[in-house]
Amino acid sequence: MGGTPELKLYNTLTREKSVFKPIDAENVRMYVCGPTVYDFAHIGNARPVIVFDVLFRLLRHVYGESHVTYARNITDVDDKINARALRDYPGLPLNAAIRAVTEKTEKQFLDDATALGSLEPTVQPRATDNINQMIEIIERLIARGHAYQASGEVLFDTKSMADYGQLSKRNLDEQQAGARIAVDAHKRSPGDFVLWKLSDENEPGWESPWGRGRPGWHIECSAMSGRYLGDVFDIHGGGLDLIFPHHENEIAQSRCAHGTDVMANVWMHNGFLQVEGRKMSKSEGNFVTIYELLHTEKFASRQWPGEVLRLAMLMTHYREPIDFSVKRLEEAERLLAKWPAVEPGDAKPDETVLNALADDLNTVAAVQALHALAQSGDPSVFAASAALLGLLPKKTEIDEAVAKEIDAWVEARLELLKAKNFAEADKIRDTLAAEGIQLKDGKDLATGERVTTWEVKR
Ligand code: AMP
Ligand code: ZN
Repeated sequence: MGGTPELKLYNTLTREKSVFKPIDAENVRMYVCGPTVYDFAHIGNARPVIVFDVLFRLLRHVYGESHVTYARNITDVDDKINARALRDYPGLPLNAAIRAVTEKTEKQFLDDATALGSLEPTVQPRATDNINQMIEIIERLIARGHAYQASGEVLFDTKSMADYGQLSKRNLDEQQAGARIAVDAHKRSPGDFVLWKLSDENEPGWESPWGRGRPGWHIECSAMSGRYLGDVFDIHGGGLDLIFPHHENEIAQSRCAHGTDVMANVWMHNGFLQVEGRKMSKSEGNFVTIYELLHTEKFASRQWPGEVLRLAMLMTHYREPIDFSVKRLEEAERLLAKWPAVEPGDAKPDETVLNALADDLNTVAAVQALHALAQSGDPSVFAASAALLGLLPKKTEIDEAVAKEIDAWVEARLELLKAKNFAEADKIRDTLAAEGIQLKDGKDLATGERVTTWEVKR
């Protein structure tokens, strides 16, 4: 590993932080549950995208760019997708309507992820391209006595697995106590979950040994992780809400089908995000999508650059809850405005930044170290360190002379504003906007003075 510190990660499976040892340092393998593509991704969905992108970058730094495989799936079969297809494209045949919804949403998700500064994962498998792999696993589970057919479904038999519940630390009796037995009368145990269910003609379906049907959600991830990363791999990630039942059930399926002791060695979960102090929900009126933040003025009456959203997210440790607020975004923006825009060249990242990230992705300490570097460090070391966090200064896209000229216009506008000559100030803003240069006004927290930053809109 050369000058790189030991990487320590918190593992939900053991509830401990421990030194990460890859199964194969030549091919470190990570799986993260991706989006169900029926609607715009919200800012909470951005958290795992950003957090695991930082881990991907760190792993690539430690093990080498070509020695890390990161798989993030696209869930493109789900009853929420069917409902959306019927609602939005009532005139189209069902399959075409579903495709219209999933293709559009998938593209939007990838655009959002790119705008948030995330690298493309190594593989991005779609559930519908892996139906055969799912059928194979289900057949194996039936053959090994871990699954059974009942009332048009194939179900996983949770009682057949002695240590079911290891990740969430729930035991079966606890789960059963609150279950609604009557609704689930066809199940052997209330915690049993669907692997396959029959489809009627208004639902998408694939031929299978159990009739035309579609997979349950959990089996998708077992199939795709197994196909691209193997029966046992290094790291599995997702948000906290996925621990139970989704990840617990992925583990049950994969371990029972492959006869292994673990599915992934390390399980990592990001904390939840709230907006302005409350759980994000449409009824609370604080539900906001990544698209809206980037491209509309829905949140605090302005657009927010992807880099600001990303830094705001990384200013909290990934396992802590985040309160996403205008104040936090403004803080991130002010910080970014003070950072130099330089290319890393061949520079190596700073030790303090690296040590912070290697300590269970302590991005809070990493951002602090980065800020100190920005003020007094070597600019190319700063840039190499910022790149580890996926924070790449943008101004370099523009010629230095042009940048100076823009700075001068921005200064001139600030003077006009001070003199309350708003008409002339607005003219400058509009002229720059016409050239694709967007101004952002904020306040310096320390001095209370107006500060203006600019960025080139792509
Ligand atoms: P979903 O499309 O709901 O399955 O979510 C996709 C990913 O976003 C999963 O990893 C979720 O755990 C994560 N996620 C959803 N809502 C939030 C939230 N409010 N804060 C943080 N992560 C979230
Ligand atoms: Zn999953």
